Amino acid sequence: MPTVGPLQRLAPKPARYILNWGRKYSLWVFNFGLACCAIEFIATSMARHDFIRLGVIPFAPGPRQADLMVVSGTVTDKMAPAIKRLYEQMPEPKYVISFGSCSNSGGPYWDSYCVTKGVDQIIPVDVYVPGCPPRPEALLQGILKLQEKIDGERLADRYRATDAASVQRGLVLPPGGER
Ligand code: SF4
Repeated sequence: MPTVGPLQRLAPKPARYILNWGRKYSLWVFNFGLACCAIEFIATSMARHDFIRLGVIPFAPGPRQADLMVVSGTVTDKMAPAIKRLYEQMPEPKYVISFGSCSNSGGPYWDSYCVTKGVDQIIPVDVYVPGCPPRPEALLQGILKLQEKIDGERLADRYRATDAASVQRGLVLPPGGER
């Protein structure tokens, strides 16, 4: 049986493969550290775990330069509008990792009157990393999962219009539009 080489596998979609390969290995990260989990995030960026080797670049100067937001810590209702606003300032294509039980679901504070029960109540989340706090290895695993997702992505799908106003302003493609 003839074997399929890597170049043959890429043949039908080389441009998309190259684009996605470049995107998944150059993720500028914006750390939204809110509590103890943020310390684990910082540990992941240090020499021992070194997430730069996976193509994650710490730290973007601000949301406008970032591809990836990592929300690590307890999201409060008072902080939620700020997270949403900063997320909206990130350019497409953008991704979010929810790091730790608090940002996944409220964690140990799930019954507090002032804690948001998961950051996905306010912004879309691509990967959830469980734990209280998760170990740095768990974040590395989450990054690998995100890279898998980026690998299989069609950029056009990300830019499909969800509202007519955005189409009018040229911010997104209309449904069915190609890029
Ligand atoms: Fe702290 Fe646990 Fe919440 Fe992380 S999940 S911010 S370690 S309480």
